[in-house]
Amino acid sequence: MRILLANPRGFCAGVNMAIDCLDECIKAFGTGIYVYHEIVHNKYVVDRFTAQGVTFVEDIDDVPRGALLLYSAHGVSPAIRAHARSRDLRTIDATCPLVTKVHLEAIKYARSGYHIILIGHEGHDEVIGTMGEAPESITLVESPEHVDQLSFPTDAKLAYLTQTTLSVEEAGAVIRRLEERFPQVEHPPKEDICYATTNRQFAVRELINKADLLLVLGSQNSSNSRRLMEIGQAAGKAAHLIDGRHELQPEWFTGVDTVMITAGASAPEVVVQDVIDHLVDNFGATIDEVTTREEHVTFPLPRELRKLQATVG
Ligand code: SF4
Repeated sequence: MRILLANPRGFCAGVNMAIDCLDECIKAFGTGIYVYHEIVHNKYVVDRFTAQGVTFVEDIDDVPRGALLLYSAHGVSPAIRAHARSRDLRTIDATCPLVTKVHLEAIKYARSGYHIILIGHEGHDEVIGTMGEAPESITLVESPEHVDQLSFPTDAKLAYLTQTTLSVEEAGAVIRRLEERFPQVEHPPKEDICYATTNRQFAVRELINKADLLLVLGSQNSSNSRRLMEIGQAAGKAAHLIDGRHELQPEWFTGVDTVMITAGASAPEVVVQDVIDHLVDNFGATIDEVTTREEHVTFPLPRELRKLQATVG
């Protein structure tokens, strides 16, 4: 068996920053730290922090007054920030700067009188946060069929934004339909689907035809990980999204010579290596790592963290 190991894979700059931020909080403040939503959408990461005493909440009312609260990498709406202030919470914002970019675009377009069409998945934390910036001025669409149901005056000022972790191809199909129906629709100068999403999808597209099976390390609620699995399936390959080696099924490997392995932007390298070790031990697999794009992106830790560290330092 041959393992075709995609690079880039796994942690992106936003996930690295959010996880480093929470690690630093634990070092500086010990236990009693709360995080609004999962810090990143990955079970291994969330379980590790839970074991270290971090509490993940879905409701700000579940955080004791005055406690320390982190906002996750996916960002939050202004209403959540106001709610946290009303409970005197000390907050640190671990939102990925590339998500913040989309929030700022939403604010800018809404203030300039545009109606915004947000391309994204209903119920995703990032979409909820972005829509909360200008709820009266944003309509969510998920597909070209949704675009067909939209109705705006011909002279309406329109702009579109996208969730950062969409399939580049699927978002492209929605955008093409939008531009056909509303030729006046505007968009930000730089696209919203982030570099990490784009690069991980590119690697799967480039390499999938050399593989019989695709394994994507990532959690079921990780949007960018699901998109990687779907690209494999669209290429006619068996593809599975798994949290770790414990989910591997022996029958997946019958008649398989080449297994492509990648990981979503929130999946740690340790779970990738664990699956590789399993395939080496059980199938004598050899590893062929292929780099399709170089990545050198990093984000600094949030300013509020440094300020709070100074107060305890
Ligand atoms: S996937 Fe992209 S937008 Fe999301 S945290 Fe990573 S870099 Fe930021």
